[in-house]
Amino acid sequence: MVFTDLLPWQESWWNEFRKDTRHLPHALVFYGPRGIGKVEFARYVGRALLCQNPNDLGRPCGVCAACGWIKAGNHPDYRLIRPEAIELAEGVESSESDGDGATLEAPVEPGAAESEGGKSKRAPSKEIRIQQIRQLADMLALGTHRGGRRVILIYPADAMNVFTANALLKMLEEPPESTVFILITDALDRLLPTILSRCQKVALAPPRPDVALAWLTGQGVADALRLLAEEGGAPLAALFAAQEDEVRRPQREALFGVLAKPEFASCLAVAERLSKCESALVVGWIQRWVYDCLGYRLAGRIRYYPSQKSAIATLAGSLDVTRALAYARTLVAENRLVDHPLNARLFVENLLLGYCLALQKI
Ligand SMILES: [Zn+2]
Repeated sequence: MVFTDLLPWQESWWNEFRKDTRHLPHALVFYGPRGIGKVEFARYVGRALLCQNPNDLGRPCGVCAACGWIKAGNHPDYRLIRPEAIELAEGVESSESDGDGATLEAPVEPGAAESEGGKSKRAPSKEIRIQQIRQLADMLALGTHRGGRRVILIYPADAMNVFTANALLKMLEEPPESTVFILITDALDRLLPTILSRCQKVALAPPRPDVALAWLTGQGVADALRLLAEEGGAPLAALFAAQEDEVRRPQREALFGVLAKPEFASCLAVAERLSKCESALVVGWIQRWVYDCLGYRLAGRIRYYPSQKSAIATLAGSLDVTRALAYARTLVAENRLVDHPLNARLFVENLLLGYCLALQKI
């Protein structure tokens, strides 16, 4: 599902944005936690900047020709630069109108590009390719079609490798007239400092828990409180998790079984099963679990998995904090490699064996 209006917590983002950008810079970077609607907000801002008839508060009218073109995915002065994998998940042509583009900040299914009949072709790129930026240069060489602004959204901006980022940097150094770049990222620290230095940074904060809960419940999510906790208070991530829950729950429960009673043999069996799951998801589950073990040990608090309290409390009781922290750090490092595990089963096996070692249960 696509949200074309501001979500409740984005109203304050919008008010801040309007205040801060009376003199609109040519490049912005929106950053904040994953799953809170940064891309949706950037799209709204893009519509507002291109709308021919914005209201007194600068909001897009939704009915002018420019709004119509964006909705239809063919505004000549509006571009979405995103990895092919996200493009496929969101719908290639449409920027706003397709009904199934809910995966804006959500993980992309592995194998999404497999052709029919099971014969796989090249996997869709999870990086923004340098060609995408080069094609942008061709577009920027021309004046805007409408003689007005041009808006380019780049997300996730951390999906650019150093060559791609440098190609973009050249454009940011000599910004074309009337062009606004909006970069969006969950991980500001993964952007090149040279890029960052040319962007105005806009921090987008997660909603208050009560606002997030009310909204999620309004979306018809039954288990909103649990899902919000598990997704660190990020409502869109929680909504995505709700949609995925039925598929994922058995896999996650199997993982929890091993995490609660870490043993070498069960690790191997579960790794086989979890290898069919997206690796980023598995790393995320383990990270949250370890975070909860540490949180319970150090502060008596469980943030993500309150439903697993008894298992977490038992583990926390005998936890070697130093080892657990070291393991948590390796998970962060793994999380950065997670898009490219050469062998998913081995990858998960290593994670789980590392977990067993960290908890001294081998
Ligand atoms: Zn309009």
